[in-house]
Amino acid sequence: MIDYRSDTITRPTAGMLTAMHDAPLGDDVFGEDPTINALEEKISTLFGMEAAIFCPSGTMTNQIAIKCHTQPGDEVICDKLSHIYQYEAGGIAFNAGCSVRLIEGDRGRITAKQVIENINPDDVHKPVSTLVSLENTANRGGGSCYDFAEIEAIRQVCEANQLHFHLDGARLFNALVAKKETPEQYGKAFESISICLSKGLGAPVGSVLLGKKEFIRKARRIRKVFGGGMRQAGSLAAAGIYALDNHVARLAQDHLHAKLIADALAQKDFTGNILPVETNIIIFEVKGRFTAAQLAAKFLENNIRVIAISPTQIRIVTHLDVTESMVQKTIDVINSL
Ligand SMILES: *Cc1c(COP(=O)(O)O)cnc(C)c1O
Repeated sequence: MIDYRSDTITRPTAGMLTAMHDAPLGDDVFGEDPTINALEEKISTLFGMEAAIFCPSGTMTNQIAIKCHTQPGDEVICDKLSHIYQYEAGGIAFNAGCSVRLIEGDRGRITAKQVIENINPDDVHKPVSTLVSLENTANRGGGSCYDFAEIEAIRQVCEANQLHFHLDGARLFNALVAKKETPEQYGKAFESISICLSKGLGAPVGSVLLGKKEFIRKARRIRKVFGGGMRQAGSLAAAGIYALDNHVARLAQDHLHAKLIADALAQKDFTGNILPVETNIIIFEVKGRFTAAQLAAKFLENNIRVIAISPTQIRIVTHLDVTESMVQKTIDVINSL
């Protein structure tokens, strides 16, 4: 079976399992897990940020950040396709008591001009705009990447209007590799960054939230409230350290694989619009002979799993467990359909 449903489905490699097995452990709620401390130190240093906190999921790191940046009744500004709005089970309302201002962006990306237009005036009728959250890469944008100049322009708007600035960087490393950008650039631009270790980086569990010391201190309390304080979880952090050391540069391979598959799809009469493939995600329209569900079923008959994300759209995600020969087999199957 070749599984393109998500880059979350990867299994730890042999080297990663060894690192997990050998990791020194302690109780992280007491701050005593040396491997978690090492991961937090490593990633915050990499981004030039003061501190980091290891959490069980990217949903938790995003939700902690939103809770830390806001008060109940405030408003969060983000693209309407954002994971924080679409796929975190209403957490912005549930956990932070905030409303959301949704922006119709371009493939999941918003502009500085749109942010300005969506800041509420100082008016008792309005929720207080307090936080702007971006997503890079943008999942529902088909793995689209921000132009860093736009991020910088949005940062300036946030600074001028006393808005906090968060990045859902679940797949930030895909963007860094694709755009040849550096972690430091992002560390300077954002107040907080959430990064998933369990997507393209290939760790089985875990995300990190980065920010200033005081912010991360607050985040530790919120993590406890959310039930995310873990004990001897250093084995999971060891997987994250291993992933940062070994699985970043190879993301370029996933991006190449996605392009090759998209090129094959583009030749077929059942393929409608394909969102530009910038990283490891392909989202395309299905038309004519098949519905999205029927095409997904055809793939499955050929031992290939993809997801129909809407009645007319399929998503394919390349990752660590997809080899060159699997991509070739996939292209052969596409050609035969
Ligand atoms: C996967 C993902 C998350 C976090 O998901 P978890 O499954 O909770 O780790 C956050 N944002 C984006 C854009 C994602 O793709």
